[in-house]
Amino acid sequence: LFTRPWVFIRGVPAMKFLPPEGPPEIALAGRSNVGKSSLINALVSRKGLARTSNTPGRTQELNYFVPDGFSGQDADLPPLALVDMPGYGYAQAPKEHVDQWTKLVFDYLKGRVTLKRVYVLIDSRHGIKANDEDVLSLLDKAAVSYQIVLTKTDKIKAAGVPRLIEDTVQKIRKRPAAFPAVLATSSEKNQGLDELRAAIIQCARG
Ligand code: GDP
Repeated sequence: LFTRPWVFIRGVPAMKFLPPEGPPEIALAGRSNVGKSSLINALVSRKGLARTSNTPGRTQELNYFVPDGFSGQDADLPPLALVDMPGYGYAQAPKEHVDQWTKLVFDYLKGRVTLKRVYVLIDSRHGIKANDEDVLSLLDKAAVSYQIVLTKTDKIKAAGVPRLIEDTVQKIRKRPAAFPAVLATSSEKNQGLDELRAAIIQCARG
């Protein structure tokens, strides 16, 4: 699946623009600059795929990616759609921006039956911050399964990675919708990507 070319199919600024429910959806969320575009591009081995849809003005949209070559008709649905959620936590974001983000994301989380799981990306250097906690609480409230993915592990000492994973596992231990295992990745160094691909595929099938 991840060896096929992937394409961008739609940017969704509000619920009414969502594509009809079809393939299982796996969403990715994270603070701006966490490395979300880089990770999506690395997962599908297509430099520039996620970035092209991340031009300013489209940052408040849910961006849909699917493997190429499916008509989208009933008998020929793609087996999986990746949904790139708008980044959060901009220092200068005006309040109405944050409110709009929260509304779009919460509506999507609550209303999307085909959403299987959200991968929440956390920068290895920063760990879980207050606005990440807010998003995890939103996911718990919406009762949507989510899993933490540490990004940019090449930026910290290799010896520190197991400890960071353990600390992160402890931090989410009491959260009701959190998947207990934490994944560690580096898009730059191609680390942890096969594990993440396998987890995504398993999730989409399950
Ligand atoms: P986004 O805002 O979450 O989409 O983040 P980007 O994917 O645009 O990445 C933000 C910055 O982090 C860019 O300068 C990337 O080159 C850098 N970056 C992303 N992933 C990695 C990684 O795995 N390792 C390192 N060292 N840098 C990364």
